[in-house]
Amino acid sequence: MSKPDPKCPICGKSASKEDWPFCSDRCRKVDLNRWLSEGYAIPGAADESAPTEED
Ligand SMILES: [Zn+2]
Repeated sequence: MSKPDPKCPICGKSASKEDWPFCSDRCRKVDLNRWLSEGYAIPGAADESAPTEED
C-alpha cells in the first residue's frame, strides 16, 4: 500500500520525517498552541472552576 505524501497541516509544506505530520518543530508547536487554545475555549467547561457565590 502506498501512502500519500503527508502535508504539514499548518503551512502545507511536505512533512518532515522527524516532525511528522508537521514540516518542522515550529509548526508542531503552532498546532499544539492552537489545540490548547481551542480546548480552553470550550463553552461551559470553565463553570466548575468559577468561584462559589456567597449568598
Ligand atoms: Zn509547516
